[in-house]
Amino acid sequence: MVETIYLTDMYQKEFEAEVISVTDDKFIVLDQTAFYPKSGGVANDEGHLIRDNDEFNVVYVGKFSGKISHEVDKPGLKVGDKIIGKLDWDRRYTLMRYHTAAHVISGAFYHNLNAKITGNEISIDQGRVDFNLENFDRALIEKEVNNSNIIISKDHSVEVYSLDRKDVESDPDLTKLAMGLPKNIQKLRIVDIKNFDRQPDGGCHVRSLKEIGNIKIKKLVNKGKNNRRLYFTIES
Ligand SMILES: [Zn+2]
Repeated sequence: MVETIYLTDMYQKEFEAEVISVTDDKFIVLDQTAFYPKSGGVANDEGHLIRDNDEFNVVYVGKFSGKISHEVDKPGLKVGDKIIGKLDWDRRYTLMRYHTAAHVISGAFYHNLNAKITGNEISIDQGRVDFNLENFDRALIEKEVNNSNIIISKDHSVEVYSLDRKDVESDPDLTKLAMGLPKNIQKLRIVDIKNFDRQPDGGCHVRSLKEIGNIKIKKLVNKGKNNRRLYFTIES
């Protein structure tokens, strides 16, 4: 079982690990990792694996058959090698800020407009959320983005913890979150923006909302019946 450091410590930038498999000279699996694989609509981390004085650039991280694979830019790593992993922290931190911003927006849309998020995509340049609002009402959407910035200015803390599925299912406030999750998942990782919004989530987030900065609408797109798309950026 590979230990996923990013699930418990989202601010860890560096770690020691051992190579446990190498495929095609460039796909590396480690016994533990802080690298976030592309998943849940959020871009992967980048960075380096360092063995003694030799640096391997991590150009992509994905999850394949349950294993986190680090694609490096040159051959040479072998099973049993001890390495130090270093994240490109600017990139990771930007992705964390965008991801938490997307949760604030989806919380505002859900609580105030009863609109559900149907898709999202987070990169280091922009965030995108799709939601099922009945009318394409620009003013209404702008108002909720404005509300999101007000929530951010209140600087709620963001906590991450796990809950048993049965506790989630017996909590009226959380029942809806458990629906649609595979039956074999017994523990849910919850991202809790205190006093605002809770969601099951496997991603990386900032500790407090002020770290996000200010959300700006980049583009609004009407995707047809019940389907709206918001592109946003954040500024510190
Ligand atoms: Zn999320």
